[in-house]
This record gives sequence, C-alpha cells and structure tokens, in this order.
Amino acid sequence: MQTDVLDRDIKFLAGVGPKRAELLKKELNINTFRDLLYCFPYKYVDRTRFYKIAQISGDLPYIQLEGKIINVEFAGSGRHKRLTAYISDGTGSLELVWFRGLRWINEMVKPGRKFIIYGKQTVFNNKVTLVHPEMEDPEKQEKTITATLQSFYNTSEKLKSSFITSRVIQKFQNRLLSILYGNIPETLPDSITGRLGLAGINDALLNIHFPQSTELLKKAENRLKFEELFYLQLNILRMKSGRNEKIKGFIFAKVGDLLNNFYHNHLPFELTSAQKRVLREIRKDTGSGKQMNRLLQGDVGSGKTLVAVMSMLIAIDNGFQACMMAPTEILASQHFGTLSRILENLPVNVALLTGSTRKNKRTILHDDLRSGHINILIGTHALIEETVQFRKLGLVVIDEQHRFGVAQRARMWKKNTHPPHMLVMTATPIPRTLAMTVYGDLEVSVIDELPPGRKSIVTAHYFDTKRERLFGFMRKQIAQGRQIYVVYPLISESEKMDYKDLEDGYASITRAFPPPEYVVAIVHGRMKNEDKETGMQQFVSGRAHILVATTVIEVGVDVPNASTMVIESAERFGLSQLHQLRGRVGRGAEQSYCVLMTSHKLSNEARQRIKTIVGTNDGFEIAEADLKLRGPGDLEGTMQSGFPFELKISHLGRDSQILEYARQQAGAILEEDPLLEKPSNNILNSQLQKLNPGAGDWRKIS
Ligand code: ADP
Ligand code: MG
Repeated sequence: MQTDVLDRDIKFLAGVGPKRAELLKKELNINTFRDLLYCFPYKYVDRTRFYKIAQISGDLPYIQLEGKIINVEFAGSGRHKRLTAYISDGTGSLELVWFRGLRWINEMVKPGRKFIIYGKQTVFNNKVTLVHPEMEDPEKQEKTITATLQSFYNTSEKLKSSFITSRVIQKFQNRLLSILYGNIPETLPDSITGRLGLAGINDALLNIHFPQSTELLKKAENRLKFEELFYLQLNILRMKSGRNEKIKGFIFAKVGDLLNNFYHNHLPFELTSAQKRVLREIRKDTGSGKQMNRLLQGDVGSGKTLVAVMSMLIAIDNGFQACMMAPTEILASQHFGTLSRILENLPVNVALLTGSTRKNKRTILHDDLRSGHINILIGTHALIEETVQFRKLGLVVIDEQHRFGVAQRARMWKKNTHPPHMLVMTATPIPRTLAMTVYGDLEVSVIDELPPGRKSIVTAHYFDTKRERLFGFMRKQIAQGRQIYVVYPLISESEKMDYKDLEDGYASITRAFPPPEYVVAIVHGRMKNEDKETGMQQFVSGRAHILVATTVIEVGVDVPNASTMVIESAERFGLSQLHQLRGRVGRGAEQSYCVLMTSHKLSNEARQRIKTIVGTNDGFEIAEADLKLRGPGDLEGTMQSGFPFELKISHLGRDSQILEYARQQAGAILEEDPLLEKPSNNILNSQLQKLNPGAGDWRKIS
C-alpha cells in the first residue's frame, strides 16, 4: 500500500519545523498532517463585512476595515509605554494601540502603509480604540483560501508564547489544504456518501476550516460528525459481533431447585412484569451458549437487586459461583445484609469481601472461594485483585456500573478460564445516545416499572431562610414514626469547607432535635470504618431518627422507613446525583418527600437543575435533561479513557439524530458483511485500523 501523505509528520509542513512540531504534539496532540486537518475550529466569525471608519459606532462586535497609516507615536514610559497609530480610510481616522511587542510593531506600522485591520473595539471617553488589532498587508498577504467565515482554533498559553496563535494554526491549515485539496483520500465508501448525500472528504475538510458559505459549513459539519459517529458505532458493533462469535459462554441449562424454592417459598413479593421480562432475557442469554454481556437499566428503586439475586441463583443451580461488585463498602455491606436475609433459609453461602476485611478472615475466604464452598461473593473493588480466585465463576454482577471503568470490568473476565456471564446494572438511567456509545456493545434490558404501591415522591425547593419551616416538617414526620436523611455535598474529600458545613449542620440539627427525645446519627468519609458502620447501623435499625451524611449514602442504601430526604446546598449537586439521592426515599408504602435547600444565589444552570428535579420523578427524563444541560460529562470520560476514540466534532447530547443514523448504517453494513471482507468495504477496514490500532484487545471487554 502506498504510504499515505496524511501520515506525514507535521514537522514537514512549511513553517512548522521540528521545534514547533514538538509543541503541537505536546499541546494539541497533533502529530501528522491528518491530525492537523482533524483539528477543527471551535468557532467562526463572519469576516465578509468591511466597515468605513465613519460608520463605526460603539456597539459593533468587531471592526474590519482597510486603510492607510497616517501617524505613529510612542507614549508613556517604562512598563506603561505604548504605541499609538492612526489609520485613515478617507472617511475618518481611528486609533490603534499596542502595549507589547512595540519594537516589532513599530517596524511594521509605518506611515503611508496600507493594512487590513481587524479587532474588537474598546470605547473609552466616547472614543473608539482598537487594542492589539490583527494587521494584514493587503498586498503581501499570503495567498489564503478565501472564506466567508474566519475560523478560530484552540491554543494554549505555551503555544501562544511561541507565537502559535489561532491565526497561525489557520495559516498552517491553509498551507496544508492548498497542497492537499482534491487529493485527500476518501474515508467513507461511495455507497454511503452517495446514498446519504454527504459531502466528500475534500470539500468537508476545506469547508470546516475555510467555509465557503454557511450552507457548505453545515454540510461539512454533518459529514464529519457522521463519519466520526459512524466509525465509533462500526467499531462497537464489530466488537460486539466478534465477541459473540469467538467467545463461548457457560450454559446455564436449567432452572434448578434453588431458584424454584426461592421463587415459590421465599420471594417477599410478587415480581413486577418488568422484572419477569428481564429475568427471561437473562435466562435466554445464559442458556444460549454465548457469553452474556447485558446492561440492566432501571430507575432508582425499580428492584434491580432482586433480579441480580435470582440470576445468581440460576448460576448456582447450574454448579457455578457468582459474585456481585459494588462501588462502595457501605453499599457492598448493604447488599450482603439484604442477600443474607433473603437467602437465609436456602442452602447458599454468601460472603463479603471489602478493603477492610481482616487478613485472617481474608485467608479463609480465599480458601473457601477456591474450594467452591462460597456460592456468592459480594464486595467492592477488592474482588478484582488477583488473589481472589474462584473455583468456577459463572456470573459477575456489577452494580452501579458507571463508577467502574472499562478496564476494571475487563479484569473480571480473567477470573476463570472462560469469561463468566456479565450483568452490568446502572444506578441511573442513561440516555439512549450515551448508552449506544458507552455501552453500545452490551445488550440492554430495561426495568421500566416500579414495584406496585409506590407513591411518587413529592419534591420541594426551599431557600435557606425557610429552615424553621423545614425543621417543623421534619418533627411531624418523625412524630409519625418516619426517618429522615440530611445530606451535605462533599466535592472532594479534602475540602475543609465542606466538612465545616457538615459539622455546623450536624450541630444545628442536634440543637433543633436534642437528645434524649431525638437520636441523630452521622456518617461521612473521614470517619473510621467502624464508626461509619455504627452510624449506618443506628439508622438502618431505626434507632436514629435522622441521618446526617455526605454523599456516601448516594448509592444504593435501602431504608424503607426513611420518608424524607433533605439535600443541603442542592445547587452544588448534579442532576443525576440529586435523582439518586431522592431515590433513597419512597421505598416504603408511606408518602415520601425530598426537600432541596439552596441559598438565594443560584446560577441559571443550577436553577434549571432544581426545576427539573422538582418537575419530574422520571430518571430517563432527568438523564436526557442532564445530557442537554451539561454534556456527556463523566460517562463520556469513561468512554474516552476506555475507547481509543475521542469525539472531536460531535456532541452526544445534540447530535443524537446523526448518531442514530450512523448506528443504523454501521449495523446494516455489518449485517451484510460481518467481517468487512467485501472489496467495497476495504476502506472501512483500513479506516478502523487507523483510528483504532489496538482494536484486538477491546473485543474482549464487556
Ligand atoms: P434498585 O433498582 O434501585 O437497586 P432495589 O433493588 O434496591 O432498587 O429495590 C428497591 C426496593 O424495592 C427494595 O426495598 C426492594 O426490596 C423492593 N422491591 C424490589 N422488587 C419488588 C417487587 N417486585 N415488589 C415490591 N417491592 C420490591
Ligand atoms: Mg441498587
């Protein structure tokens, strides 16, 4: 294959050279010609318009004009020295000012010379001035590809101090495109560009950097977004089908005594029809001979744990062990408690392993795992450690998935000669576009129904000034036998201020709810594990009326008698966190409440978040709102650190239609040609190779 000119080192581009190339690599990750072309502008400014000096009023966003320098003078001294020049275009004159680079500017800006100037105006004492305008010699201009919009590129302080400004990057783009335009190899098959009417790669790249018109810019964006999302989806779907083909799964052939016994004699309540459906899906997967990789989505409180438990019983019925991994110790202990309770009268050994499991206990536990004595192991990240070995691990359940990175998931695969079945459960619903991208290689099950009899939670927003009213409400709830959470934000474990808020809050609550009439427990990350445990236990057992906590309780904790969730400084929490926290109540038969406390100072975005939470209980709706407000955030982070792709131009929140489309197209192509062997699909293969050199490894990761 002939070497691709786009792979050429960026240092070979005229005007770059080894030194600047080093900087471009370090600061912008631009290594090759291709990288430069795919470094897209972050904004565009209309530069079609030239003004006359006489037309200038104080409120133009920018000024562009052509004129002749009439006078240049220095003023001030020392650090306050500045250079002032006056430019005239026959309709008037305008002041230009520089504070830095004076010597160089003085060389350039000579009376009598003509310039095109461009800049933002500063209005001072009713006089318009341009500070540090861009200057171009209309005759000596490098031949630039003409464009109706000027592109702006991200740079960094380091780049700027080496004079690699947005403008300079644009010049590089100009040089590169002047050489390459017309010869850039197409990156999508003709069949796709033709059928969908997409711009060709040459025109797309030209117009993304040098828009010939707003329509052509739009077309370029669409094409490049499609390309990006298409290859992302093609990669994910290929990974998924490759895995299905290659990896044999354990066959859970039967539903045995354990599950039957549990179902008929120990099930605490009737399953919802959504739970039943999901169990059928899991049964089908695990019985198929393929390895299951399933994502279980369900709103907070929808009863995912029970589904996990029953799936694990099926594994045991078929002679396998199962494990369940949770992101925090509190949650792991809680699961351990729940499972021990509901499996109490069944011949199942459940064990707990966390970071704080003592060494001697751990040794016994390791032995019991290897011998197969333990049927179900519950734990935190500690499960991943290599010393943890099973006799015959058949099923891994990962709860509250989004806290685990892709790489951590992958390590669970190695716990057996054959990869076990994987059930990944999310704490919060994920918008479709994100699920398709971050978990696009997993099958998806959804529990879209809450257990019967749940009353929807009433959510209210109070300003801090209404605290007395809040306390009154809390007293009433406690008088009715209910319990209350009060949660404080903790942005980082080291934030002293946060702990002060928490401690002050605890003090004021203890004053308002004094012993012996009231018991107030506290749990936060700085406490010793034992103390945490005690605090938690006080609340779980019902002895404490109020639990004051940081977000350690965010995930999973289940106390059905708790009917009120008070969230302090609610403006500091993200939407999905607020929804998670609210989900801690509303688990019993009683009417539950969530109170969001904020100060009067709220940013627009915070106001929007509060409004969303007050307005709906639907986790999917909230997830969509979150994606639109904030962008993909953490989840995309997980993806980016896990996948060799980085989204350069598309936005999962805003480009959902293009994404759907790209996935459809990728799916259709793989359906016809699963291994991309047809000559017409060569281009897809080589493109995937370029984007994704380490693809092999990723096929194995769930
Ligand atoms: P999540 O999906 O958030 O993990 P859990 O599994 O913790 O939810 O379940 C929330 C609560 O609902 C628990 O108290 C659980 O016992 C209860 N629950 C689960 N399934 C049912 C059901 N089918 N009917 C009634 N209650 C249920
Ligand atoms: Mg849960």
